[in-house]
Amino acid sequence: MSDALLQVRGLTKAFAGTTVLDGVDLDVEAGSVTVLVGPSGSGKSTLLRCLNHLETPDAGTITVDGELIGYRRDGERLRELAQRRIAAQRRAIGMVFQQFQLFGHMTALANVVEAPVGVLGVARSEAESRGRALLARVGLAGREDAYPRQLSGGQQQRVAIARALAMDPQLMLFDEPTSALDPALVGEVLEVLRDLARGGTTMVVVTHERAFAREVADTVVVLEHGRIARSGPPSEVLDQLSERRAPSLD
Ligand code: ADP
Ligand code: MG
Repeated sequence: MSDALLQVRGLTKAFAGTTVLDGVDLDVEAGSVTVLVGPSGSGKSTLLRCLNHLETPDAGTITVDGELIGYRRDGERLRELAQRRIAAQRRAIGMVFQQFQLFGHMTALANVVEAPVGVLGVARSEAESRGRALLARVGLAGREDAYPRQLSGGQQQRVAIARALAMDPQLMLFDEPTSALDPALVGEVLEVLRDLARGGTTMVVVTHERAFAREVADTVVVLEHGRIARSGPPSEVLDQLSERRAPSLD
């Protein structure tokens, strides 16, 4: 058995009888960056959402740091019993979405401290000083009091990253974090991801940014029709992709 931080085995999920994930196996080593690619509709978002309990898998297992968080459809009762554990696991996994999803009526700093204070019970003063440091880390020192509408898309996404980091997650999931941004703002968000990667944050990133994948990914995983079609170092996997089916990826 591998000692990967994240281990996914046989993950299966259908919507209304249509199989979207068809027996996915995935290992993510601590401190590594996995870039997940694949055509639209191949199941990338569903996979991340299962990892973060936003969707319930039909079958298969997910373990994070050796703790089982997967469950089966026929395990309704098991799932109830596991609710507390699921809540703990969800806290251990940070997720960043394409559409930032900040709280619009809260300042940048309030967005970042909300969960540590409300969920973890961290003292507000402590959460705020940590929140300021996280905003500085994503290049937003001085914008603590700005509301989302006063920030560019790239800045909002960086607040969303700081907000996820504030929970001190073991694993960060990014679902097309730059796809909703003006091209001019993509670079500043990718730079934050690069910085996290250099700092040893374990990440799974769905992205179409090839140059980023080539530079930062330890492993590129290709999902097709809910199955892992290929997986390996970016040099191997991305070169093959360019030959085979580059147009469908972007
Ligand atoms: P990707 O992120 O790779 O584009 P998704 O995981 O979003 O793919 O979707 C995979 C398939 O599952 C698509 O056909 C999509 O329409 C379907 N799907 C995703 N979420 C739901 C849902 N909540 N209900 C029904 N179908 C869904
Ligand atoms: Mg998607």
